[in-house]
Amino acid sequence: ASHVKPAPVGRPPKPKPSKDTRQIGKEKATLVMLVRNSELKDALGSMKQIEDRFNRHYQYPWTFLNDEPFTEEFKTHTTRMASGTTEYGLIPREQWSTPDWISEDKFQEVISRMSQEGVIYGDSRTYRHMCRYNSGFFFRDKLLAKYDWYWRVEPSIGFYCDMTYDPFTFMRENEKRYSFVIALPEYLPTVETLWKTTQDFAKLHPEHIARNNSLGFIATDPDEGIQETDYNLCHFWSNFEIADLNFWRGEAYQKYFEFLDKKGGFYYERWGDAPVHSIAAALFLPRDQVHFFGDVGYEHVPWGRCPLDDESHDTARCICPFDRKESFDHNPWSCQNKWNNFLGLPENPIFE
Ligand code: GDP
Ligand code: MN
Repeated sequence: ASHVKPAPVGRPPKPKPSKDTRQIGKEKATLVMLVRNSELKDALGSMKQIEDRFNRHYQYPWTFLNDEPFTEEFKTHTTRMASGTTEYGLIPREQWSTPDWISEDKFQEVISRMSQEGVIYGDSRTYRHMCRYNSGFFFRDKLLAKYDWYWRVEPSIGFYCDMTYDPFTFMRENEKRYSFVIALPEYLPTVETLWKTTQDFAKLHPEHIARNNSLGFIATDPDEGIQETDYNLCHFWSNFEIADLNFWRGEAYQKYFEFLDKKGGFYYERWGDAPVHSIAAALFLPRDQVHFFGDVGYEHVPWGRCPLDDESHDTARCICPFDRKESFDHNPWSCQNKWNNFLGLPENPIFE
């Protein structure tokens, strides 16, 4: 095939500016993305928004993680898009495969059954590796060892307001350790025994349950203790997270993950990293250490939300592609009002 030479665009030649990737933000923090090479374009779309709305003023480094080696193309384009430095990690095989105590036959049966039942991602092996990896391993990666804080970014997200301050500094100064922007219920078929397993863990390790925890947010009976209540399936949506890596590295969470992993529910069910992170944050942290970023406009299919107050729109130049009333906060399916009730805050109006 002949190579088609495009017509000149008429841009005057200019010297390629050398990029100064020196970090301006003061925290030991990174933006982190677990991503496939095939998602390059969607990754760049997310990066562009986070850079324009926040990171170009701070130049925090980006860390990319993958179960396969990143292509040169992926590295070139994402490094171009980043204002800070970039690093690329290859996930060790043992962190992205079934551990030896998982029975392949039993796992295969689960895959077949869930695929017949139409459970979302129920037939996927890699999705389970991903959920287990995000639950138990990413924060142990050697590229992340130098950081205390991370901001998890996924491909294809929408980020609709300026972040006019450093959220890592905000988290540190206000003694926050976990944060979220959207909360919703998990599909029961994916977490059938997660709560029972958590109750067993809590019985064995009562010392890890925080006083003033957020059990009231995730319990069907908010006035009961862990052993008496069921799980209401509410969780923080983990495709956006700004959090303290040392929380996951700490004893409570390490023990919890190991306990869950040994039970096999990442494979025999389809435990998501979102409910796992959320239950841990709800039980092992005092409620004051969990922060809702109400000033963030964010979307990940199928849900999005926009700040409700005028001030965010005036000062942070929010442009959401949907009306404020369409925010997921106002959806009957949202767990936001459970969070508000739990903290004694006014409820958001619901628009059906
Ligand atoms: P969803 O958000 O639950 O619909 O699931 P996604 O497909 O977005 O996966 C969650 C995150 O894990 C995204 O950042 C994906 O890019 C990443 N991810 C999912 N599966 C794989 C995989 O097999 N390999 C790699 N490297 N990343 C994956
Ligand atoms: Mn996603």
